[in-house]
Parts: sequence; C-alpha cells; structure tokens
Amino acid sequence: MNASRFVRISACVLVALCAGAAAAQDLPDVIILATGGTIAGAQPKEGDPGYKSGSLSVDSLIAAAPGMDKIARITGEQIASIGSQDMNDAVWFKLARRANELLAAPWVDGIVITHGTDTLEETAYFLDLVIKSDKPVVLVGSMRPATSTSPDGPLNLYNGVAVAADPMAKGLGVLVVSNDDLFAAREIQKTNTTDVQTFVSPNRGQLGEAYYGKAWYFWKPTTVHTTASEFSLDGLETLPRVDIVYAHENADGMMVEAAVAAGAKGIVLAGVGDGNATAAMVDALAAAAAKGIVVVRSTRVGSGIVRRNIELNDDKLGFVAALELNPQKARVLLRLALTKTSDAKKIQGYFDRY
Ligand code: GLU
Repeated sequence: MNASRFVRISACVLVALCAGAAAAQDLPDVIILATGGTIAGAQPKEGDPGYKSGSLSVDSLIAAAPGMDKIARITGEQIASIGSQDMNDAVWFKLARRANELLAAPWVDGIVITHGTDTLEETAYFLDLVIKSDKPVVLVGSMRPATSTSPDGPLNLYNGVAVAADPMAKGLGVLVVSNDDLFAAREIQKTNTTDVQTFVSPNRGQLGEAYYGKAWYFWKPTTVHTTASEFSLDGLETLPRVDIVYAHENADGMMVEAAVAAGAKGIVLAGVGDGNATAAMVDALAAAAAKGIVVVRSTRVGSGIVRRNIELNDDKLGFVAALELNPQKARVLLRLALTKTSDAKKIQGYFDRY
C-alpha cells in the first residue's frame, strides 16, 4: 500500500471511530431495574410443568434484545428475582428508593423496570404515586417465558427502552409498555391469564403505542402523579395493612371481621356491580368504619366508576368511593393515604384527585 492511500484509509477509520464515539456519547442513559417475572422466566420444555419466573439475570434480558444499544446507553441492575405474585413491601421500597436515587442523578434519562405481569399494575401505580421525577419510568413484562419459541419479552423491553429514552415521555407519570401498546400506570389492568394481549385500560383507554422503538402518545394523564404527588416513603419502612374483601351471593360479614381481627387499618370492598354487597357484609363494613377502619368501595366488575351515595349512603355509612380504581389499585392508594390520615372524608379527597 502506498503511503498516501494508508493516510487516507487511516483518516477514514479515525473519522468513523470519532463519529461512532460521538453518536454513543449523544445517546440517552437508560437504567434497567430487573425484578423477575416471566420476562426472565425459564421453562425446561414448552408446555411442561416446572416453569419458573425470575430465573434469568438482567444481563441475559439485555443480551436477548439486540439493537437497544442503538437507542440508549444501557445499564442493568438486579433489584429482585421473583415472580410478581410474591411482590411485597420490601421489594417495593427497595425499587422505589433506587429509582428515585437514579432519577435524581443528572446523567440518568429514564428507567425501565422489568416485572411479572401478575401484579405489574399494582407496582406501576405505587411507583406513580411515590416517584419524585418527571423523567420516564416504564414497566415492561411478558406473557411468555424467555425460553419460549416466540417470547414477547425482548420486543417489550426494546420498546420500553425506547420510551424511557424519549423526551416526549417526560411528565406522563409511570408508564407500561406491552405488546406494542402504551399505558398509564393508573389505568392499566391485566385481563387475561395467558394471552399476550392481556393488558387494557378499560375506563380511559391506552395512552399510546410503542411500535419497534417509535412511540405515539394519545393523551396526558389528568390525575395527580409523580412530582405532584403528596406521598413519599421518607421515614417509612412499610405501609399500613389494607385487605380486600370480595363480595358474592350470600356473603356474610366473616371476611370483613377477619380483616379487622388481623389488624387492617383499611378495607377495600371488591363489590358486586356499583360497589355493592349483601346487607350482612355492608353491616360488617359499617361496623369496621365505626371503629375507625377506612372502608373503600370498589367493584369486581372490571370497569366503570363507583360513585358516592348511589345505592348505598356513603355519607351515613362512613365509606369512601373508589371511583375508577379497581380493588387492587384502590388498595395501593388507600395504603399511601393512610400514611397521611385515617379521616374518611380526607381520604375521599385523595380518591377524587389521584
Ligand atoms: N407469576 C408470574 C409473574 O407475575 C407470571 C406472570 C408474568 O410474569 O407474566 O411474575
């Protein structure tokens, strides 16, 4: 090779390397916090029993979703390795505190949290209420294990990283990306045991779409979340006990009394219809409310609004109406509200705004 050709090639290599380095420097920083779930699940053989969620590490999840390094500089951290049916206060506190710590760092642009789908909606709403940042926080899960013939986790993770890296996702509260759809934490609900298309937002609709790394945003949440939320975990180690009781034909007050005996500070009714229950169950709930236990009426129906004083006289019974929140979401808000007050009227105020 003659000298001038060598100089020309070397210059090209240098320019390409510098351009690559500059491009890498321009990429947003996204942290993936892994908690387990089916997205990290391994199954010895498809269809066989013995499938275990939360088996794979965060690094394996990142390796299984090629191309993410083109949209963000990614760092992975393992927070937990559990199936989300085992989600608990200890992991919630660890996750929320670590997320808040990272989000406060100027170099962090967004966070993705991998999570099992069983309780994903509860964790998402909890974080929506205690995260103190407007930077994107996006939960992703999957319905098929990582070892399946056609896992849905890698594309969910890819799209989740793209949304977490997107400045347009700022200020929308905690989001969830699943099967190309984008959801607000408060609105998302799991509706199918095994279908890949399991998540919906029955009352307000999905917030947008995330399709091969490109996101569309249809609307902005109007309820209080993240930076505007009054709730904080500062000084707390756990949250007050709140139990959910399920209404049904011929129900008596036994489950309500059991919750009271177990030390519940609040009870959420997964009521029939518009947050209703048998007279015996309502009597037991009224007795609990009279003792200072906060009773919130939600519904087992799956959509709609449980309003105050329609068939039951909430003013007289001392109850709170959950409005759009399903029982599991109402439980999350009630637990946080109880860290501020046990006054049912003030707690109704939280349900009106959050
Ligand atoms: N039980 C598992 C979990 O929630 C399975 C559901 C899933 O992740 O899709 O972690």
